[in-house]
This record gives sequence, C-alpha cells and structure tokens, in this order.
Amino acid sequence: MDTLHSLSVDGIRIGLDDASSEICFVSHAHSDHTEAFRKNRKIIASEETFVIMGREPQAHHLSMPSLKLHPAGHMLGARQISADTEGGKFAYTGDFALHDSFTAPAAEIIKCDALMIDSTYCLPSYRFPNRASVLRQMRGFVKENEESIIVFGAYIRGKAQELVRFLNDECYLAPVVNAPAAKICSHYEKCGVKLDYVAAGTPEAEEAMRHPFVAIMPSSMVNFQFGSSLSDAYGREVKTAVATGWATVSKFPVDGAFPLSDHADFKDTMRYIYESGASKVICANSNSENAAEYLRSIGINAVAKGMARPAQTTLAEC
Ligand SMILES: [Zn+2]
Repeated sequence: MDTLHSLSVDGIRIGLDDASSEICFVSHAHSDHTEAFRKNRKIIASEETFVIMGREPQAHHLSMPSLKLHPAGHMLGARQISADTEGGKFAYTGDFALHDSFTAPAAEIIKCDALMIDSTYCLPSYRFPNRASVLRQMRGFVKENEESIIVFGAYIRGKAQELVRFLNDECYLAPVVNAPAAKICSHYEKCGVKLDYVAAGTPEAEEAMRHPFVAIMPSSMVNFQFGSSLSDAYGREVKTAVATGWATVSKFPVDGAFPLSDHADFKDTMRYIYESGASKVICANSNSENAAEYLRSIGINAVAKGMARPAQTTLAEC
C-alpha cells in the first residue's frame, strides 16, 4: 500500500503531516504531526502552530494561490488544507473536531470532490457522550473533592491548556502546571488566549501547594500509585483524573476518567463526509483500513491510506 500522504499542486509535492517531501503541511502542533519541523522542512502551517512550536512563522502557501487553510477545531492553530487540482477540489483534514473547544473554534466542513480524512474514530463503536454533560461531570468531580489535591493527567501540548481554561472558566481555579506545560501556556498567551495558571517550581506554586490545589501533569505520570506518593508527600488526600476520548473504550488507573475529546467521533466524521459532498473518501492514519471497509459497506467510495506517522495508540498522543 502507498503510505505517502501528499498533494501535488502546480508540479510541487506537498507532504500532508508527512515529512518525506521538501515542503510539508503541518496540520497542528501535536508531536505525532510535527516531524517536518524536526527535519527542518519548508513548512505550511498556521501562525499559531509556528508560535506553539517556538518557531518564526513562514508563509510558503501564500505563493500558491490554489492552496487554502481552514479551521480544524481540535487544538489552537489546527488547520485543514484544500487545493484546486486538475482532478477537482481536494481537502485534507488532519485531526479535527466539529465542536468549539475552550481554545479553538470548530472545524469548517470543506465542500470538495476528494476528501482525505482522519479516520481514527470512523467506526460506529466510537461515540463520545454529550460534551456539556462530560463538562458537568468534571465540574462535579472538582467540587466534590475541593478539600483534596486533584491531579489531571493531560498531554501537555493542547489538552493541558484546554484543562487550564476549563478550570479557570468553570471552576474559578488557577491550576499548577509543570514547566513544559507552562511554556506551551505562554505560547498560547502570545496567540491571545488568556490562561490563568501557576508554574510549578515558582514561589507562587509553593504557596498554592500549602493548601488543597489542582494540578495538571503529563498523562503518562498520573495513576493511583502517583496519587498515593503525592498524598504521602503532602499529607492530604489526592484524587487523580484524565480527560480523553479514549476513556470511552479504555480503562485508566485513576479516580475519574472523563471522555472529553478534541476529536470528531464516528457521528461527526460521518457528518463531515456527507456534508463535504466528496465523491471519493481517502481514510488516513489510524484505523484507515477498517474505516474504509466500513464506508464501502454503506456505499461510500472509500480507500485507505496507511500511516504517514506513528499510530495514535496512547493517551500521551491524544
Ligand atoms: Zn492531534
């Protein structure tokens, strides 16, 4: 199977979250999409993505008028790309979400002839519960445990900043975040996203941690064992939690697992496919073979593309 994710425009090949071309579109700043930055390719991305990556913005797409970037939801700076090609209009989504989040507006559904769509959740078993009810449960968890230390596990680039805004806006709390997440928070603020947080290791954090507090840590660290050792260190009960779409299908060793996703689930992926009007659907990345087979079974002209990047199989990558 051809695993190259690319697009040809005016004889120029552009990698799509795929670093094998000289010019690459990077849909967003999650590490499983940013190999092109590590390889110092010429990058097409949103200004926010450059800022989050700590790089000076480039504008290669401006010299290619048939290319256009569109909002993708998912995280700050995430974009889709479309192009007018000889075969008609082509669109590539990358990771996307059709709902507004705390830090990113919803994805635009691009009308196109051929659609390359992220198929991570494109199977009927992947349905996320109503977002408002998940947020209500999270607020209840924070309130019920206000006398304890609460530690949320989150990917530090994207999800951590969503949780900071959730805690600011809905719980009136400024969480403690570790230094790498604090750095990303400062990049978000450069992009105009207001975040109220306390960076771990500062005198302000030391003062905050004398009392019950809420912290956001890398998801790979947060589990019952971590909670127990933190409880011993601070002499206070500790409650651990994660907020991820994978909580709908996997068990996590924490006190609260909330299925708050920044991705389109099955229902929203199908909505995108139908509303795009595409006559050809190319399922990309995780789950592409199964997704394409399912779509063909319901009469949609679909094919699979293999992995251009590591499969998203762990909480740390979502
Ligand atoms: Zn992502």
